[in-house]
Amino acid sequence: MAKFYITTSIPYVNSEPHIGYGMEIVMADVLARYMRSQNADVLFSVGTDDHGGKIEEKAAEQKITPKEFADRMSQTFNDLLKLLNISSDRFIRTTDPHHEQKAQLIWKNLAKYIYKGTYIGWYCTGHEEYFPEQVVKANNGICPDHNRPYEQLKEENYFFKLSAFTDEIKKAIESDALKIIPETRKNEIMSVINSGLEDFSVSRPKDKITWGIPIPDDNDQVMYVWFEALMNYITVLGYPDHADFKKYWPADVQVIGKDILRFHAAIWPGMLLALGLPLPKTLYVHGHITVDDKKMSKTLGNVVAPKDIVSKYGTDTFRYFLLRHIPSYGDGDFSMERLEAAYNSELADQLGNAVSRTAAMITRYQQGLIGDIPEPDHDIAPYQEALSNCRFDQALDEVWERVKGLNQYIDEQKPWVIAKDENEKEHLSEVLAYMAGSLIGIADLLTPFMPETADKIRSVFAEGVVKPLSGTLFPKHELAPKV
Ligand SMILES: [Zn+2]
Repeated sequence: MAKFYITTSIPYVNSEPHIGYGMEIVMADVLARYMRSQNADVLFSVGTDDHGGKIEEKAAEQKITPKEFADRMSQTFNDLLKLLNISSDRFIRTTDPHHEQKAQLIWKNLAKYIYKGTYIGWYCTGHEEYFPEQVVKANNGICPDHNRPYEQLKEENYFFKLSAFTDEIKKAIESDALKIIPETRKNEIMSVINSGLEDFSVSRPKDKITWGIPIPDDNDQVMYVWFEALMNYITVLGYPDHADFKKYWPADVQVIGKDILRFHAAIWPGMLLALGLPLPKTLYVHGHITVDDKKMSKTLGNVVAPKDIVSKYGTDTFRYFLLRHIPSYGDGDFSMERLEAAYNSELADQLGNAVSRTAAMITRYQQGLIGDIPEPDHDIAPYQEALSNCRFDQALDEVWERVKGLNQYIDEQKPWVIAKDENEKEHLSEVLAYMAGSLIGIADLLTPFMPETADKIRSVFAEGVVKPLSGTLFPKHELAPKV
């Protein structure tokens, strides 16, 4: 049995999850569910990044310990998994003792490439990231994402010799040994690498920040939060000698957002090469979501939380809308109006209606007896191709071609007309069985995307006799009045 190891990024727990992260875990979930259906031995890991100065700050504001703050916030990410019906197998936190221990082991194993130096430059605690002079200047000294001044640092730090791996990383990405999807992101990171990878700082002095993993044999420094967070992808498998690590590493797909491309396509491969480990096979990089054409921000008050959508439209609508209507290879815009329009026309009118019409006609004309369902005659290669390229939007377009095709078939065949002719019983039965068969085929393709909906459709038609649903599949919503 082929193994399939898939990870998402582990979000920083400084604020509650928004729809961008919701989309990311659904994307990974679709791949995990799909690969399980192909009989792969899947391990799907998610988690949270609990350390860093910002967590320490926020905890201090609330007069609790950083661990208490991280516990509380990490739980909101854990709750989201349930809300979005995510089939993850593991949830790692960087405060898990085994992660902390293994991070220290990894540090020791990287010792040959770690040296002490002086970092002079800039840092944004909101980002927990170092920034070069040009960026700071271009932004007039204030981080536009966090609306706070960059801090000027002059620190004794440890550095990781990333520059030593420039050529190897470049070769791996160029040759697709480490495949970066989409191509635009590959080009973006290639230009970063071509301009030369610099060694980077991997620790912070303890007098500036205490909320981090201590560095072995140095009481004055803690690990830079990003450096140890990346290690989660192997510590969760029990690096270096657990059977899971031997079986599942390298990752088959790592799903991330475009803002952390450099960490995952340059620094992380450098760390792995330094450890003598194989690189992940594929890095899939999704884009960002704006809301009503504006960047989501607390200041603008336009942050959309997954629960805002799920409570009104259900989990599968969230999964469907974000994966079909936010482009898989770029940025996209979210608005409640567009979601509602898609819900009403695509889910209620097209899919919901096809199911209820089919069930109703089989019940009316054949007392619910479905008859012999023909073998599906559809070509699923384009759907499979789309999924293997992480084109979730195209895969769903493929499914919707069938949903629309089925409605068209019903409108053209007019079973209600055929039913009037006593001599056409057999023909009617064929038409109705074809309709039921199409819906079972659609349910199968929808399974990774909309697992509950797929189960409901199958439950109506799968047992030879129509079993009507207790309610409507997607009850129609009144369009919200424009304010
Ligand atoms: Zn910032």
